[in-house]
Amino acid sequence: MAQLEGDSDRINIAIDGPAGAGKSTVARLVAGQLGYVYIDTGAMYRAVTYSAQRLSIAANDHEPLQRLMGSIQIQLEPGEQGQSVYVNGEDVTDKIRSMEVTRQVSYYAASGVIREVLSRIQRELACRKGVVMDGRDIGTHVLPDAELKIFLTASVRERALRRFKELRDDSGVTLEGLEREIAERDRLDASREISPLIRASDALELDSSGLTIEEVVASIVHLSRTKLAEAK
Ligand code: C5P
Repeated sequence: MAQLEGDSDRINIAIDGPAGAGKSTVARLVAGQLGYVYIDTGAMYRAVTYSAQRLSIAANDHEPLQRLMGSIQIQLEPGEQGQSVYVNGEDVTDKIRSMEVTRQVSYYAASGVIREVLSRIQRELACRKGVVMDGRDIGTHVLPDAELKIFLTASVRERALRRFKELRDDSGVTLEGLEREIAERDRLDASREISPLIRASDALELDSSGLTIEEVVASIVHLSRTKLAEAK
């Protein structure tokens, strides 16, 4: 049982990478196989974006954002689609995946006040180890001491294609439109001043183009067992 194990029986795993590389699916499955807790930090940035939009707070409205971050309660719970997300008790799991949130989230994620509060919460969630955390700055900033760091990538075309296949036929979204959006989100995430999306120097880069999810999961689980043995 997890609570009977000492911290040395578990490690932390950071999975970073650009939008649509398969991080959340892979991280959830890796956590399931290891009996670890999965934490989707992108969902936290989305939850804040959704709340700010609802209150008509712009991404550069420093003081209102500071007030929002002083009171917001974000809860992540294991759910049917991987993880259910609650903001101040309201289930926002589907709402945070809307186009409106997706198009704006990188602007809010560039805010120092938002990053500071979310990074602190993320570190607290990982302090007992046994966590698989996915995001953009986990290996570089949130958990620089994570025993295993993966930088998961895939070509923009492949990432857009994966998203496209998940959409309904009547969504009105084109593959080219998705490619443009993903490339723009990559550009914003990689060029922001605070904690930009970059590979940590000690992260292993895994290109998932042409690999199945099962193959990616198996290789991370294998690496984590090696790291765990080393950490003992
Ligand atoms: O992972 P997902 O695509 O849901 O993340 C949404 C957005 O949240 C990213 O495009 C990025 O702007 C932001 N994010 C971040 N740092 C993280 C996780 C997500 O800046 N650790």
